[in-house]
Amino acid sequence: MKRETAPRLTLKLGHLYPDQLNLYGDRGNILTLRRRCQQRGIELRVVSLGIGDALAPDEYDILFIGGGQDREQEPVARDLYEVKGIGLWAAIEDDMPVLAVCGGYQLLAHYYRPAQGRDMRGLGVFDAWTIHKGGMRAPRCVGDIAISWNGGTLVGFENHGGRTYLGTARPLGKVLQGYGNNAEDHTEGAVYRNTYGTYMHGSLLPKNPHFADHLITLALRRTHGIQAEISQGESETHDAEPLPALSPLDDRLEWEAHATLLERMGLHSAASAALQTT
Ligand code: GLN
Repeated sequence: MKRETAPRLTLKLGHLYPDQLNLYGDRGNILTLRRRCQQRGIELRVVSLGIGDALAPDEYDILFIGGGQDREQEPVARDLYEVKGIGLWAAIEDDMPVLAVCGGYQLLAHYYRPAQGRDMRGLGVFDAWTIHKGGMRAPRCVGDIAISWNGGTLVGFENHGGRTYLGTARPLGKVLQGYGNNAEDHTEGAVYRNTYGTYMHGSLLPKNPHFADHLITLALRRTHGIQAEISQGESETHDAEPLPALSPLDDRLEWEAHATLLERMGLHSAASAALQTT
């Protein structure tokens, strides 16, 4: 039974467009963050930010935007640009940790060109763009995926028609198995400051506790100024930075799930390395 601790610290998470961008259990990411905070005596408060809601950057410590179908992304793209864009840019430039999955990720780049209809303008946080070539010319990217991240791996499930091409944006990681951004250049996701875009559903964080803790750590450092010894770096393309160390949790189940997915993809040595983490 995991020890419950009375909350000593509070973090506030803004959940963008929960009614529109809510595919493939992306809410599991929020449940994971909340649980991992709670077990360390941190209260994670979650506020939904729907279409028309203003985003006041100084009211939040971490933001999440999930994935969605093309038709749901259309109104979200307009709202992102017209209502939340300035606040979101301010948060991002102030190093707020942001996790954007799939459709949310696509709308933080320059544009998303669906198979039918007009381009959806993105915020341009990531110097990247997405083109959906249509099922006949390019099949959907669907299946389990594993990438390299921070000397280890991240695992998830992807299901997207859009193919994302990076300009100067840094990838989150290199594809070990699966499609990734575009099934061509072996990149997956994008990183700008503390904003992470990825195609990995699953949901992502329950099977990647190290990445969940990375986001929590960034939020604690930015909001509560908690500086401590180096505990983990960022992606391998970024120098390790002193981040507050979080008290370790019993993640045997999480890592077994992580390793199982790697085994399923034939990544046996990565699977045994993952099990060493517990
Ligand atoms: N509609 C977008 C695409 O097909 C995003 C899909 C998603 O969020 N899973 O690429």
